Amino acid sequence: MRRIDLKRANVARSDTIRSINRQIVLNYVRERAPISRAEIAHETALQRSTVSLIVGELMEDGLVEEIEGESTGGRPPTLLRLRAAGPVAVGVAVGTTQTIVATSDLGGRVLEQEEFPTARNSEEMLGRVIERIRKLMKGKIRGSIEGIGVSLPGLVDYETGSALFIPYFKWRDWDVKRAVEDATGLPVVVDNDANAAALAELWFGRPEIREVRDFILVLVEEGLGTGIVFDGQIYRGEAGAAGEFGHMTIGSAAPVACASGSRDCWEAFACERTALARYEKLSRGVGPRQKVSFPQLIDRAFGGERAAQTALLRTAHYLGVGIANLIKGLSPEAVIVGGRIARAWPLIANDLKKAVAKSSICRGLPPPRINVSSLGEQPQLMGALSLVLASKFASVTTA
Ligand SMILES: [Zn+2]
Repeated sequence: MRRIDLKRANVARSDTIRSINRQIVLNYVRERAPISRAEIAHETALQRSTVSLIVGELMEDGLVEEIEGESTGGRPPTLLRLRAAGPVAVGVAVGTTQTIVATSDLGGRVLEQEEFPTARNSEEMLGRVIERIRKLMKGKIRGSIEGIGVSLPGLVDYETGSALFIPYFKWRDWDVKRAVEDATGLPVVVDNDANAAALAELWFGRPEIREVRDFILVLVEEGLGTGIVFDGQIYRGEAGAAGEFGHMTIGSAAPVACASGSRDCWEAFACERTALARYEKLSRGVGPRQKVSFPQLIDRAFGGERAAQTALLRTAHYLGVGIANLIKGLSPEAVIVGGRIARAWPLIANDLKKAVAKSSICRGLPPPRINVSSLGEQPQLMGALSLVLASKFASVTTA
């Protein structure tokens, strides 16, 4: 057991407050620019001197710059905005079928992106990723890109940047960080896709999500992953293996097997593949059999097709059952559901929340807020970019 060092805990707390204040100021500049120091102080209720101190640090770190506002008679006011646009981060979102490589500016806006099929062989995959990164960086001003973030659908050792296991491909000990750093000369941060997306939610999500310090992100994809945030930090657990709730047992004989071959896991009841398998079964005998993609399934559900709606609603029900279990164990302030399924939220939210509420009866407390992700349909990419950007935003200059 690790013992808690109280002295260190106190330092951590004051660092946490500084880091939160810095995040608040930075987010005001990002979203409300051009904005003055006085306006930030007024709206955040932070002291004027605190705001000035933080802005000074942010300018020193090259995150914020001053511009001249319009004069209303007297001296023109000094306003703040994020440092001028340009590519700052490269994000690599490795999916089970498709991979996206993109550049973004400091505010997380995607500037260029390219999508290509994921190779089934890890060496070949590295070659493809490095080739795409080089292509995106070609012609960019030297030194403008500060790092590369990689999100992976599997277990990642965050410290070493190596993928411990990617069940879908059975890749083990895939040393992504070293290989990409050697090839590009840039620092590389690697994390599990759900952790990365949770980080993106924390830094780039809607304000009502960002202000929550304890939440769980449920990332629905070909599989199902979860990212846990405690006190504004990703909880990784021993060897970075926390958050593998996709493989908790919630039943038996699911419509599909999980990435590791079990039909008992939550993932097997509530991922994109499950919804598609349910749809195929429900639509059997009703017209010609067609293979549809997950986005097409959502389109059909919105178009009023009963089988497509039912397939999504059953999947939403099982998402709710699993979420209720997480709530019982971790009691977060909020649960966020992300992935391509986010587009179907108006259809599924009600059933999902009903399943959570029903399954929460024994807990004796009302369930926390359940929101849909505000990161759009590519939370994995926003996650990969955040691995670079958040470290810039979050760095605390100790006095
Ligand atoms: Zn499993």
